[in-house]
Amino acid sequence: MKFSKKRELILNFVLNSDKHLTADFIYLELKKDCPELSLGTVYRNLSQLSDNGLIKKVSLNDQTDVFDKNLEKHGHLICDVCNSIYDINLDPLEEAIEKISIENDMSVKYYDIIFHGICGKCKN
Ligand SMILES: [Zn+2]
Ligand SMILES: [Zn+2]
Repeated sequence: MKFSKKRELILNFVLNSDKHLTADFIYLELKKDCPELSLGTVYRNLSQLSDNGLIKKVSLNDQTDVFDKNLEKHGHLICDVCNSIYDINLDPLEEAIEKISIENDMSVKYYDIIFHGICGKCKN
């Protein structure tokens, strides 16, 4: 994969963030220093970067994708009050997924698990 200056800018922005970012957010932030950047360029580069496994695309629903630098197997918890997205460890589910694979005679290749709830900060 060729690395244009813009692609590198977009990749570094995702890698340097601790959050799960939407294309719109990335576009608005990067545009401040790079006014010639277009939203289409951001979308195109994000999808190429995730296709190449450098970042991970997470579909939250039909309309919203976020981009994640965490490439480890993990699930997400979305707080329905503040909309924060947290990474969660899915190790406790491994056994259940193994069982589902066997029971359905299917080798599960990947899964996206999103829990909705209220985060610790919003509970207080
Ligand atoms: Zn919250
Ligand atoms: Zn994540």
